[in-house]
Amino acid sequence: MAVILDGKMLSAKFREGIKAETEILKHKTGKAPGIAVILAGDDPASNVYVTSKERTAIECGFHSVVERVSANVTTEDILKLVKKFNDDDKIHGILVQLPLPRNCDEKTILRAIKPEKDVDGFHPYNVGLLNIGEDCLMPCTPFGVMNMLADYGIELSGKNAVVIGRSNIVGKPIAAMLLKANATVTICHSKTKNLAEICSKADILVAAMGRPKFVTREFIKTGAVVIDVGINRLDGKLCGDVDYDGVKDMCSFITPVPGGVGPMTITTLMQNTLKAFKMIEKL
Ligand code: NDP
Repeated sequence: MAVILDGKMLSAKFREGIKAETEILKHKTGKAPGIAVILAGDDPASNVYVTSKERTAIECGFHSVVERVSANVTTEDILKLVKKFNDDDKIHGILVQLPLPRNCDEKTILRAIKPEKDVDGFHPYNVGLLNIGEDCLMPCTPFGVMNMLADYGIELSGKNAVVIGRSNIVGKPIAAMLLKANATVTICHSKTKNLAEICSKADILVAAMGRPKFVTREFIKTGAVVIDVGINRLDGKLCGDVDYDGVKDMCSFITPVPGGVGPMTITTLMQNTLKAFKMIEKL
């Protein structure tokens, strides 16, 4: 029977650690890690995420600022906000909530964030460092997955890892992280032929495709570790990219949805903010 990788429990444990370290650093320096989130428009899902990020930051003892602007905002308006936070000594992490309204130039905006404050790890400078295997701020969802694998003592070196999905947010960075951990990595996408067959050779299978319950028994090698990044709605309920009930008896470890990878993402954002704080304040 599979071990359930419990993202909720792990997140709570990590947050306690972040809170305790923040307390010590605040005492030592008189300063707190600061995070600024820019939210443009009124997308309900983004609003929920941002509120949750703000609440978690405060719980961790951080200084937290949320700048909410209308959907009619221009690229220049957001660039001004980014510059304000780049220059603000109390802010160590800047996050622009995606997706941005259609009239905004996402690439230009993300590149305007100072790389040392880029707690989402999306700036090409951090992407480059990740891909040459150097220390950097790494995208939160894949980094959260790596933290989860490490905490459960899952060995990666020499293992076959297959990632379904090649987005810049999840698929590509997790592939880079698995490679750095000495896994043999295959990246699949919508044009991949024989997807199930490739996946069925995976010791570690990461599904990040956004297709509800797509990954079924024929994709799974007996004893595989299955990480489900997907968040989908099916018949009014949340589900992942993996047919959890259908495959779980075949796996050694599996993440549920909800309660698996999802809760780790915001916690990792806090870890990144604490890391940026320590780098900027030279602690
Ligand atoms: P994208 O839509 O950007 O990327 C999806 C990827 O899956 C693409 O590379 C696409 O291939 C591939 N894909 C789609 N359909 C298939 C298919 N039938 N066969 C093989 N590959 C396929 O999504 P994201 O990476 O941003 O997100 C993926 C999922 O993870 C979503 O459900 C999202 O909601 C969730 N997510 C969860 C987070 C969390 O905190 N847990 C955070 C971020 C995302 P191609 O490139 O060829 O189009």
